[in-house]
Amino acid sequence: MTFELPDEAQALKESAAAFAAREIAPVVEEAERNEKFPRDLYSKAGQAGFIGMRYPDELGGQGAGITAEVLWRETCSYQCAGIASALSVPGNIGSYPIYEFGSAEQQQRYLPKVTAGEWMGAFALTEPEAGSDVKGIRSTAERKNGLWVLSGRKMFITCAPSADFFIFTCYTDRDLGYEGIANFILDRSLLPDDAITPLKTLGHRSSEVGEVAVDRIEVPDDALIGEPTGGFRRAARTLNGGRLVVAGGAIGTGQRAVDVSVAYAKERRAFDREIGGFQAVAFRLADIAAAIDSARVTVYWAASRWDAGSESPKDVAVAKLIASEAAVRAASEGLRTFGGYAYIGGEFPIERLFRDSRYYVIVEGTSDVQHLVLARQLGLKPQ
Ligand SMILES: Cc1cc2nc3c(=O)[nH]c(=O)nc-3n(C[C@H](O)[C@H](O)[C@H](O)COP(=O)(O)OP(=O)(O)OC[C@H]3O[C@@H](n4cnc5c(N)ncnc54)[C@H](O)[C@@H]3O)c2cc1C
Repeated sequence: MTFELPDEAQALKESAAAFAAREIAPVVEEAERNEKFPRDLYSKAGQAGFIGMRYPDELGGQGAGITAEVLWRETCSYQCAGIASALSVPGNIGSYPIYEFGSAEQQQRYLPKVTAGEWMGAFALTEPEAGSDVKGIRSTAERKNGLWVLSGRKMFITCAPSADFFIFTCYTDRDLGYEGIANFILDRSLLPDDAITPLKTLGHRSSEVGEVAVDRIEVPDDALIGEPTGGFRRAARTLNGGRLVVAGGAIGTGQRAVDVSVAYAKERRAFDREIGGFQAVAFRLADIAAAIDSARVTVYWAASRWDAGSESPKDVAVAKLIASEAAVRAASEGLRTFGGYAYIGGEFPIERLFRDSRYYVIVEGTSDVQHLVLARQLGLKPQ
C-alpha cells in the first residue's frame, strides 16, 4: 500500500534511494562505531543536489516542496538514521530561518555553501533546562557598543561538532516574554575550540550531537535574522517543517525494522519450521508492516497538503505523532523476532534500529507535545 506520489517526487525518491544504497550503506557500520559523521557524504549529497532542496535555483536549491525533503530523509534513514539526520538537518532547520526570514545578503552568504555541500548549519534552540518549554531558555543577546553579545548553553544540538554555523535562539528582551526572542547566525569560527562538547547518544550515533557553550561572543547586526523580536514564531515555523521531515525519517527507520524482521523470520528455524510460520510471529510482523504503511500515507498526505499551501500545525502533529510512534513500535516488535540475537550489539541491525527509533518520539516536539497541539485543536486545555 502506498500513497500515489506525483511522478517528479517518485523519481526523486528513486534517485535518493539509489544514492543512499550506493553511498551510505557501505559506511554505516564504521560511522556508527566511531560515532562520526562521514563528512565527505555531505559534499557528495550537496553535489548531487539533495541538500536544501526547498531553496530556489539561484541559491543552489531546486525550488522543491517539503515532500522532497521528507522523501530524502526517509530513504537515507532506511540505510542509517544517524547519517540521514546529518544529511537532512543542515538543509532544513539548520539553515531554513535564513532562507525564509534572512536578508538577501545572509541568504547569499550562507545558502549556496549549504546547498553545495560545503557548510553545515545546526539549529541551536534546546538548553540544559529547557526543551519542550521554549520560553524557559536562558540564552541572551545584549546590545553593547553597536554589537550583540551572545551568551548561553545549548544542549543536544544535532551536527554541533561538524557545524560551520548555528541558528542561535535567545532572548533580546526577557520582559517581553515569547515576543522578546530572536534568532542569530553564529559562525563556528567565532567560538573557541573547546566550546563544543560531543555527547554520547543512545541512537543516531553517527549524526554527532553536541553541547554548545557560548560565552560573551560578539556578533554584528548582520548576524541577526529579521527583527530582534518575534524569533519564537520564526523558530516555531521552522520546526513545523522540521517535524514533517523527521516524520519521514521515522518511516525509513520503521520500514527497515519491518524488512529485517521479515527476512529473519523467513530464515530462522525452530521446531522444524521457519519462525515466520508461527502465527504469533507472522501476525506481529503483519501488524508492524501495516503500522508503517499507514504512517507513510499519513506523512505523505500531510506533506502534499503542505506543498499545496496548507501548512497546518495540526496535520504536521498528526503525521509526526503517528510516524514516530509507529517507528518505535516497528523496531520494538521487530526486535522480538530476533530472540536472543536482538540483544547482541552489532550482530543484527535491529539492535541499532531499536535505539534509533526512540529519537523520533523525542526530537522537534515529543509525542506529549504533539498530543498537546492536537488536544488544543479539539478545544481542550490540558495542563
Ligand atoms: C538526539 C537528539 C538530537 C536533538 N537535536 C536537536 C537540535 O538539533 N536542536 C535543538 O534545539 N534541539 C535538539 N534536540 C532536543 C530535543 O528537541 C529535546 O530533547 C526535546 O524537545 C525535549 O526536550 P527536553 O529533552 O528538554 O525534555 P523536557 O522538555 O524536559 O521533557 C521531559 C518529559 O516531560 C514531558 N513534557 C514536557 N512538557 C510537557 C507538557 N507541557 N505536557 C506533557 N508532557 C510534557 C516530555 O514529553 C518528556 O516526556 C535533540 C535531542 C536529541 C535527543
